[in-house]
Amino acid sequence: MVAIDGPAGAGKSTLARGLARALGVPYVNTGVMYRAVAAAALEHGVRPDDGPALAAVAKGIRFELGTGDPPELTVDGAPPTVALVGAGVEAVVSQVSAHAEVRAVLRAAQRALGAGGAVLEGRDIATVVFPDADAALFVTAAAEVRALRRARERGGDVAAGADLARRDGRDARTSPLEPAPGAVVLDTSNLGIEGALERGLAIVRGRLAADEATGSAR
Ligand code: C5P
Repeated sequence: MVAIDGPAGAGKSTLARGLARALGVPYVNTGVMYRAVAAAALEHGVRPDDGPALAAVAKGIRFELGTGDPPELTVDGAPPTVALVGAGVEAVVSQVSAHAEVRAVLRAAQRALGAGGAVLEGRDIATVVFPDADAALFVTAAAEVRALRRARERGGDVAAGADLARRDGRDARTSPLEPAPGAVVLDTSNLGIEGALERGLAIVRGRLAADEATGSAR
């Protein structure tokens, strides 16, 4: 189990997917799971302050692993839709994910998805979901770099960068954005995609080899 945590726009997804492919294990983006709950709540008129109703929504969604290289999360049998990364979902997802009831449902699903070995990406993977992960990376980048990357991803939308900072502020109240004990911090501010993957892979392989040597690999 490899845990990848960090703030939005730090390059977690690209790195986590690349690591999963290189290691030959599934990739699970747990942010997609919170986004799927937020999208379903919007669709069914469930209020973002109604924890029990949101937990029921979360329970009603099937999260599984699809096929592909690497195998990735499916939501009710299909790959995540573009609506999940839209502004509507992002406006409410932090509020939705702040409810303990919602987190409990998704945490159980995440543990089941990762049980056979996987790279899991999120904000509380090494701190809460898999505290005994074989390797944990805390991926970060300077705030300006993260805002710029997100704006670029969204076709030059500068507001997307500001939205990201606001969402981080709200998310930090739910999962303090700090490295778990034992996590290795990887700052991608000055690294390209290939450079980040190379560094991440070296760290993870080092950890896995050390665990194997002590017989504690999971
Ligand atoms: O990683 P991403 O930006 O897609 O995550 C979307 C949202 O899901 C975050 O803003 C946060 O509110 C929530 N989230 C969370 N815990 C995780 C992953 C995501 O609360 N492990």
